[in-house]
Amino acid sequence: MPVIEYDYKIGQIKSEIERLDAKNIILQFPEGLKTDAIDVSNSIQEVVPYVNIIIDADPCFGACDLADNKVNHHIDLVVHFAHTPLPIKTDCPVLFIEASSSSDVVSPIEDAMDKLDESTNTVGLITTAQHMHKLGQMKEIIESHGYEVKVDSGKGTSVAQVLGCNFTSIKNLDVDEIIYVGSGDFHALGVRLFTKKKVILADPFTGKSRDIEEFYDRILRIRFARITKAKKAKSFGIVLSSKKGQLRFDLAIRLKKIINEYGFEAQILNMDFISPDRMLPFNLDAYVMTACPRIAIDDSAMYKKPVLTPQELQIVLGIRDWDDYLMDEIIIHDQQL
Ligand code: SF4
Repeated sequence: MPVIEYDYKIGQIKSEIERLDAKNIILQFPEGLKTDAIDVSNSIQEVVPYVNIIIDADPCFGACDLADNKVNHHIDLVVHFAHTPLPIKTDCPVLFIEASSSSDVVSPIEDAMDKLDESTNTVGLITTAQHMHKLGQMKEIIESHGYEVKVDSGKGTSVAQVLGCNFTSIKNLDVDEIIYVGSGDFHALGVRLFTKKKVILADPFTGKSRDIEEFYDRILRIRFARITKAKKAKSFGIVLSSKKGQLRFDLAIRLKKIINEYGFEAQILNMDFISPDRMLPFNLDAYVMTACPRIAIDDSAMYKKPVLTPQELQIVLGIRDWDDYLMDEIIIHDQQL
């Protein structure tokens, strides 16, 4: 497995600390990069000796979850790594460092070429923040094989960028097949569900590619089983997140009303870090997730009770057909703030 290095842009962080005259900063890394946190902290300290650096050790899953309101307003600057900004109001300045990956995109994309159908002419291309700086190179490789490559910008995302809760950059592309450059099955799954097109995952961390159809079938079977089980539920917990970028208050209120109208009990449960333990004391029959859409799908095996997305609740209540299954999304518009 090749060693992957990330560009943590220490010079840019130094400039921002100096520009803001920041005394106390907090560094926020996603789980996969936390092992680099000490080295990054030391590198910043070396170039800005006077600044107080705090490493946020809590889990961090996306730009929806900023550390701006932690440590009771002692923080002058959050340095948030590996995600791009969402239109969220923050309590203090936040510097987003994309942590661009040095991983090779040539091998996985070349590997993906054999997996495209013979009839394919146009290829939709999407990726995540870590690989976006190589978008031009990705396009060139695919075009060199005679395909037309299409990309789009989404709502709240950059050109060709996909988030686990935002597929707007690919939904409206008119293409034959799609190549997703990244490592997470979840993003590819969402793209497959929204576009109904074949999706090839080209993984820069393994240098290989794979068709995600088998994974897609397996996840749909699991979702069908969870929905079937939830049809027996008489009481529902609606999980509301207190993370700014995941907080869908109006949706939670609406869902409670709908569930009550169908004659079932519903309680809204507010959580910051969401885990099965937090739900145990309430002993409700099923849960509906208004927080990160990935929780219901990715963490499904951790929960004994069915945890549904709002769209899956619609299927349980008979408001939506199974054939019209949709992934959940959180599209943050400025006017929602
Ligand atoms: S809500 Fe979930 S998928 Fe969306 S940015 Fe946050 S962690 Fe990622």
